[in-house]
Amino acid sequence: MTVKANLEMIKQQINEACQKVNRKPEEVSIIAVTKYVSTERAKEALEAGIVNLGENRDEGLLEKWKVIGDKPVWHFIGTLQTRKVKNIIDKVKYIHSLDRISLAEEIDKRANGLIHCLVQVNVSGEESKHGLAPEEVIAFVESLRQFKHISVAGLMTMAPLTNDENFLRSCFSKLRTLRNQLQEFQWEHAPCTELSMGMSNDYKLAIEEGATMVRIGTALVGEDG
Ligand SMILES: *Cc1c(COP(=O)(O)O)cnc(C)c1O
Repeated sequence: MTVKANLEMIKQQINEACQKVNRKPEEVSIIAVTKYVSTERAKEALEAGIVNLGENRDEGLLEKWKVIGDKPVWHFIGTLQTRKVKNIIDKVKYIHSLDRISLAEEIDKRANGLIHCLVQVNVSGEESKHGLAPEEVIAFVESLRQFKHISVAGLMTMAPLTNDENFLRSCFSKLRTLRNQLQEFQWEHAPCTELSMGMSNDYKLAIEEGATMVRIGTALVGEDG
C-alpha cells in the first residue's frame, strides 16, 4: 500500500472517532513513526502530506535527518539514553520520553532553544514499560520548572498490547485525568496541552479518550520498506 492510501484510511478513522465524542479532527496530529522503514518511505510520507516524523533511536533519526533535513517536525519517541541526547537535541522539537531528572538535566544543558517534552507515564503498571508511576507525575513535572530549555508539552504513554478495549480505555483516560490536573496548576513551564497516546492498533480508542498526538508506524508506513 502507498502511504497516501494508508493515510486516507487513517484520516477517515480519525474523523469517525472524533465524531463519536464531539471532537475536531484538527485537534489530532498524526506522527508518522518511521523507525522500521527506509528514508525513501519517510519521504513518501512527507509527500503524502505528513508533517510530523517520529523515530525511537538516535541512529535512525540521524540517518534520515541527513537526507530529509528540518522540513518535517521531528519527534523523539523512544527510550533516550542520557549520553545520546547531544546527538539529537538540535534536530528535534519534541521529546516524548522524559522520565527522569538526569535526562532533563542533560536536555537542558545541551539544548540551544526550547525543547517541548512529554513526560512518559507507565499507566498500566507493566514492569516492561518505561515511565513514571502516575502518582509520581505531578511532583516530577513541578520539579522541571528549574530547566530553562524545557517546556512540558504534556504526557505520553504506551498502552499494553492487548485487545481488551475497556482496559485500554482506562489507561488512556487515566492519562487524560492526570494531564487535566496538571493543566489546572497553570504552571508557565508546563502548558500540558498534549496527550501523546495511541499507536497503530489502538489510536481510535486513544482519540476517543482525548489523544492530541497519535504515533502511527505499521498502519501508516508499514514495517518493511
Ligand atoms: C514503534 C512505536 C510506535 C508505533 O508503533 P506501531 O504499532 O507500528 O504503530 C509508537 N510509539 C512508540 C514509542 C514506538 O516505539
